[in-house]
Amino acid sequence: MLYICATPIGNLKDISIRALEVLAASDIILCEDTRTSKQLLSAHGINYKQLIALHQHNENQIAEKVLNYLSSGMTVTQISDAGTPGISDPGARLCQIVLAAGYKVSPIPGACAYISLLSVAGLDKPSLFYGFLPSTKNARIKILEEWAGSSYAIGIYESPHRIIDSMQDIVTVLGECRPIIMGRELTKQFETIKYATASELLEFIKSDPNQQRGEFVLLIYPDILIKTAEESLTSEQIKVLKLLLPELPPKKAVSITHKLTGANKDLLYNYAIKSVK
Ligand code: SAM
Repeated sequence: MLYICATPIGNLKDISIRALEVLAASDIILCEDTRTSKQLLSAHGINYKQLIALHQHNENQIAEKVLNYLSSGMTVTQISDAGTPGISDPGARLCQIVLAAGYKVSPIPGACAYISLLSVAGLDKPSLFYGFLPSTKNARIKILEEWAGSSYAIGIYESPHRIIDSMQDIVTVLGECRPIIMGRELTKQFETIKYATASELLEFIKSDPNQQRGEFVLLIYPDILIKTAEESLTSEQIKVLKLLLPELPPKKAVSITHKLTGANKDLLYNYAIKSVK
């Protein structure tokens, strides 16, 4: 049996009794960084048998070895540095190889940064999990443009050195129609949970260096204001925008409609993106 076992995302106590039992009983524990996992195991008094590093560069190779361990009846458990393996973490390839070889894979559920944020987001609509946004601006903007007008909430992970750039792009592309909830340092001493519009959140992060540190998960709410946008824009404003959209790029059409009619740019842009899809 291969177990895929969640570990804490900050607070070391966030680990299940079953996870501790399975880790203690495992013949092999696969982990990302052996130093990080040793700390967790020793904090819980687990005398592990063998720790093997599995990361994105050796996942195929280790997965082949895991098949040998499983064939000799050993219990193997995979953990990552924090949270649930396979969720923006190594593990997918391992599962593919083990499943394809006909062995059983079983989850030991537990902490996950995205699910933790979702649980406090008060969202009663479907959501999608994306993971890390691309590191280059152009690629980021392209993805964000695909999300404009989407009726799904979207979960993303972000690192401290890219949070401001990504938030800036979110403000530019998604505007004010998509509120966001940010979870920073969840379950840790300086946990911050902040619900705001995109530009308010950007300002909040920019204005306090402490809010630029640590680990971030964001949930961009669905385009809940698109209906309000349709309702808020007058028929005259929509008419002007619709006349211009076939002739001009959306940004230009929005800008001219704004100048001619005084309509809110974010609402116009959101309407435009949805109608040109
Ligand atoms: N597998 C993990 C999970 O289940 O959440 C995610 C691993 S991914 C490599 C690490 C990213 O998850 C971080 O850069 C951050 O975006 C997010 N993350 C992890 N721990 C977090 C925490 N305590 N608070 C907020 N975000 C966190």
